[in-house]
Amino acid sequence: MPKRKSQVYLDYAATTPVDPRVIEAMEPYLFEKFGNASSLHTIGQESAKAVDRARNQVAKFLDCKPMEVIFTSGATEANNTAIKGVAYALKKYGNPSASSSPRGSRLSRAGQGHIITTKIEHPCVLESCRYLEKQGFKITYLPVYKNGVVKVSDVKKAITKKTILISIMYVNNEIGTIQPIAEIGKLIKDIKSQTTKYSSNSSRQAVQAIKPVFHVDATQAINYLDCNVNRLGVDLMSLSAHKIYGPKGVGALYVRKGTQIEPFVHGGHQEYGVRAGTINHPGIVGFGKAIEILQETRNKKQETRRIEELRDDLIKGILLSIPGTRLNGDKKMRVANNINISFDNVEGESLLILLDFKGIAVSTGSACASGSLEPSHVLMALGRGPLEAHGSIRITLGRFTRESDIKKLLAVLPKAVEKLKKISMG
Ligand code: PMP
Repeated sequence: MPKRKSQVYLDYAATTPVDPRVIEAMEPYLFEKFGNASSLHTIGQESAKAVDRARNQVAKFLDCKPMEVIFTSGATEANNTAIKGVAYALKKYGNPSASSSPRGSRLSRAGQGHIITTKIEHPCVLESCRYLEKQGFKITYLPVYKNGVVKVSDVKKAITKKTILISIMYVNNEIGTIQPIAEIGKLIKDIKSQTTKYSSNSSRQAVQAIKPVFHVDATQAINYLDCNVNRLGVDLMSLSAHKIYGPKGVGALYVRKGTQIEPFVHGGHQEYGVRAGTINHPGIVGFGKAIEILQETRNKKQETRRIEELRDDLIKGILLSIPGTRLNGDKKMRVANNINISFDNVEGESLLILLDFKGIAVSTGSACASGSLEPSHVLMALGRGPLEAHGSIRITLGRFTRESDIKKLLAVLPKAVEKLKKISMG
């Protein structure tokens, strides 16, 4: 981590510093090897080769074919591409998960199509769904109960003949809860295997059922959890480089072969026709390197354990030393690096500012929602009231977090909370 005067950074879910090895890998492609990867000359082809290498690195991590990886500007674009891409493919092709279905044949039967998601998705998923809702698509927003985890039985109950897409995040960015992605993947696979249904009319004409596409936003999961798309039974998966010590403005969408995606950025034929525009090859090189480093680190397993231990020490320390505190989200179904705590009679944003004065960077939820006066939609979905939702902070650890950082926070936090409580209670 670059040295910043006695600064403790505990906001790794918002973004991560770029690993020096990633910067080293990117550097030649910013100046010397600057060519447009679509150009046919040697300078362009150097860039194209580097992009191929990065595509292989990402594909190896996900256990997919390189041509199933579409580079984007980040997870926001990947999520938009997945959700709108599947929805509009229904209009154009009918069944979005079967390339062989005749164009338009399913549309009238499917109406505008049905999408299942959860109440706690990232705003880029929720807003994409609301956008489609206005156009006549039907959206089911599943509950997550007090522990912040979706029930597989609720997913099963929500699926109808018209369900074209199920979009569920792997790890929540605010409370760190892990969703049962492999189980949902298995459920969808079983539904898809019942490919042929018969219509009720006497001719028993075979009708191919809509096969729901399974999309997973794995942005906050990739550092710590299995992202093998085959083991998980996932058709689409969104990723972002800046959460894994890579550069900002780069991400990827995994698209299982045969899944119909209608592009919404129109232009050239880059990225297999799914995403037009000159590709950010230095960023993509950095993403590839970051994922390669992540794979090596994950293989060793100690890193996840080290972070989990720091997280558990911190949770225990806060709950023991500060009265009126609660951990938000399930304790076990929780990603290694996330702590989200509510404090009685304390305003989360004031606490953030006080900690910042002391050189400690935390968050009140997602960086994308900061600046909004609305209480967190995630905490509200857990059944917390607006006051409690406003009185919480998110602490997220990462590769460069040390025990001394945790000790510093534990030394500063109780006094800061006490000070704010005194102010709020007059
Ligand atoms: N999904 C999740 C779960 C996230 O945490 C984020 C980043 N906060 C995004 C999507 C958006 O990622 P990006 O910044 O790459 O657009």
